[in-house]
Amino acid sequence: MDLSVIESDIERVIVSEVDLQARIKELAAQVDADYEGRDVLLVGVLKGAVMAMADLTRAMQRHLEMDWMAVSSYGSGTKSSGVVRILKDLDRDITGRNVLIVEDIVDSGLTLSWLKSNLESRGAANVDILAILRKPEAAKVEVAVKYVGFDIPTDFVVGYGLDFDEKYRNLPFIGVLAKHMYE
Ligand code: IMP
Ligand code: MG
Repeated sequence: MDLSVIESDIERVIVSEVDLQARIKELAAQVDADYEGRDVLLVGVLKGAVMAMADLTRAMQRHLEMDWMAVSSYGSGTKSSGVVRILKDLDRDITGRNVLIVEDIVDSGLTLSWLKSNLESRGAANVDILAILRKPEAAKVEVAVKYVGFDIPTDFVVGYGLDFDEKYRNLPFIGVLAKHMYE
């Protein structure tokens, strides 16, 4: 969906489609290099990471596996609750696997720090994280994110997988949601 369709819902575009795609290609090359000679299992966090996973994996030049988890930490609001629930678990055992979690955004960090330890406790050889966006000023817990697309301010953003009340995921760019949409 183009910006012109929902122009007044978006305060400003913070990452354009062109910048997003260029950065994803760089990240894909880094991941390719870092996992060279090892198998890799990319775990996408539904639903926000769908776009990132689709673009990242198509830019990677190797065999890989994908699996998906769905966790809930938000409800339909714009603030993290800190309570994480598994809505959909992995299809396969990850004992001994090199796992790369693919996430849309690190906000408070609560979801990812919980997810990382959860996957480590299942016996993965290693668990690293790739996030398209990170809000450094919103961090409530330290979580080591190995690959970050862009650091952004704490504004609530939508697009490229990120939603507000399930909408805007299909924007090809990332924009700040206009305050009048939720205040
Ligand atoms: P955290 O636990 O606070 O790091 O939040 C993690 C999850 O909250 C992300 O995976 C997103 O689904 C959601 N989230 C956090 N910030 C935003 C935002 O600005 N827009 C849309 N969703 C967000
Ligand atoms: Mg998410």
